Amino acid sequence: MSGKRTLPSDALALAAGRAAGYCWVRHPTAPAWCTQPSGHDGPHVDHYNGRQPATDTEGYRWPQG
Ligand SMILES: [Zn+2]
Repeated sequence: MSGKRTLPSDALALAAGRAAGYCWVRHPTAPAWCTQPSGHDGPHVDHYNGRQPATDTEGYRWPQG
């Protein structure tokens, strides 16, 4: 055992998001993860990343599939 272990930040983020009950599908090109509830209908939406300040209530949005 080295005592030192690193995980890709994507893997950590994935585990955290799924644990929180989010859909958490990764945006195909942008640094965003779906924050809709797991199993939702309609497009994926990240409510936190990709927002324009003071103008948007949600950020990235992309279709399922
Ligand atoms: Zn989604």
